[in-house]
Amino acid sequence: NKRTRIKDLLSSSTTGQETIVMGWVRTFRNNQFIALNDGSTNNNLQVVAELGLLDEATLKRITTGASLKVTGTVVPSLGKGQTVELKATTIEVLGDSDAEKYPLQPKKHSLEFLREIAHLRFRTNTFGAVFRIRHALAFAVHKFFNEKGFVYLHTPIITSSDAEGAGEMFRVTTLPFDNPPRKEDGSIDFSEDFFGKSTNLTVSGQLEGELGAMAFSEIYTFGPTFRAENSNTTRHLAEFWMIEPEMAFYDIEDNMNLAEEFIQYLIKYVMEHNADDLAFLDQRLAEEEKQKPQNERQEFGLLEKLKFVVDNQFERITYTEAIQILLDSPHYKKKKFKFDVKWGIDMQSEHERYLVEKHFKKPVIVTGYPAAIKAFYMRLNDGCEPGKETVAAMDILAPGIGEIVGGSQREERLEKLEARMKDMHIPAEEMSWYLDTRRYGTVPHAGFGLGFERMVQFVTGMTNIRDVIAFARTPKNCEF
Ligand code: ATP
Ligand code: MG
Ligand code: MG
Ligand code: MG
Repeated sequence: NKRTRIKDLLSSSTTGQETIVMGWVRTFRNNQFIALNDGSTNNNLQVVAELGLLDEATLKRITTGASLKVTGTVVPSLGKGQTVELKATTIEVLGDSDAEKYPLQPKKHSLEFLREIAHLRFRTNTFGAVFRIRHALAFAVHKFFNEKGFVYLHTPIITSSDAEGAGEMFRVTTLPFDNPPRKEDGSIDFSEDFFGKSTNLTVSGQLEGELGAMAFSEIYTFGPTFRAENSNTTRHLAEFWMIEPEMAFYDIEDNMNLAEEFIQYLIKYVMEHNADDLAFLDQRLAEEEKQKPQNERQEFGLLEKLKFVVDNQFERITYTEAIQILLDSPHYKKKKFKFDVKWGIDMQSEHERYLVEKHFKKPVIVTGYPAAIKAFYMRLNDGCEPGKETVAAMDILAPGIGEIVGGSQREERLEKLEARMKDMHIPAEEMSWYLDTRRYGTVPHAGFGLGFERMVQFVTGMTNIRDVIAFARTPKNCEF
């Protein structure tokens, strides 16, 4: 394949060479100027077909959305914003596109509309930029952990455990729906199933990840996770990707430091490698802001925000302090929160965003959450007031989103862990494999989960999580 990528061609400084490019037509003007795009960059290549090069029939076939193979000579361009263009010698139409029916017209489409044609939306500038950045972030995740000597552990997609205990699992079974075998008490008899027990799609790779950390010291997993959340928010998907490092010999402090360094590393990577795409999204967002009334506009642009986040430490506060700040806020006094605020609540997005966007104006790490609202594996803090037990949990809250990281130091003490499981009605017999890590050479350890789509949202400034994953899975939405 002798094709030259448009991105490479546009950044080359030499001219005069014969080149082949292939791509899709964005626009065609004056029967002469084709804006061609191959997805390597948002910048289109201007292809010039001199009058007389193409016959009438071919000219008609060069329409928005059609695919072309162009052979030509790279020449200096007089056009604005481009140094080179391609003077065509032959143009072959690879695939026609009915211009009347093609949903992507050369104009700005709304994100809502583009969600309805998710199978074509990659061909727009916005989604081109978002998905190239998503790719870069995924690559940077592996680069970061590889440089730190972490082992990439593949945790299972089908599992029999529910790490979060939130009951948001998709069941996996080979049993017939209409007439499954039943036990005497009427419950479904999963011993007849392929896996011989009730299984589900993983909600988190953490528990299996802990097994890896107890041997390799530092591991991470990065894979799809599934939650049957019947919620329609701009930050929840039923299928999302999560990065979960798990580290032996780390305490909560080490955990926070790693998470902060990791997020800053990812942003820096994108700023360095995707400057064009970020600049495009920055501009896009700035235009959107201009449509809003003055008092609702964001204080900072996307690039300013990202630069600030990599240059400044995150704020660190306790859950108790966070609740106090909310209670003391003018927002609370004017009854502007939809959900009530008091010690013990699981903070809602509106609370998290208030802390980040209005109060601290920077990412915030909250530690020491009430034990009652957190998962069984989190380490109980010593010396708590009875009724006010807290765990060594930490969430990272980001502007525009709220929680992007959930993490904790894990309970490494067998008796405390068993007691907590008993309290929470988690059958210890079924999790003997997990408890073995506490029986044989237990050590302090910690880890966290970064929701990959929320990170992509944060970096791209996209406000709806459906717009940062290729094929969003949300309630009642699974077209392909
Ligand atoms: P939330 O409070 O937003 O529902 P959570 O506390 O239930 O999140 P965790 O169990 O702590 O989530 O999962 C770790 C991380 O995974 C979260 O910090 C978030 O970034 C991401 N995450 C969780 N649920 C979803 C989801 N449904 N869609 C996308 N990302 C998610
Ligand atoms: Mg949740
Ligand atoms: Mg949460
Ligand atoms: Mg959480």
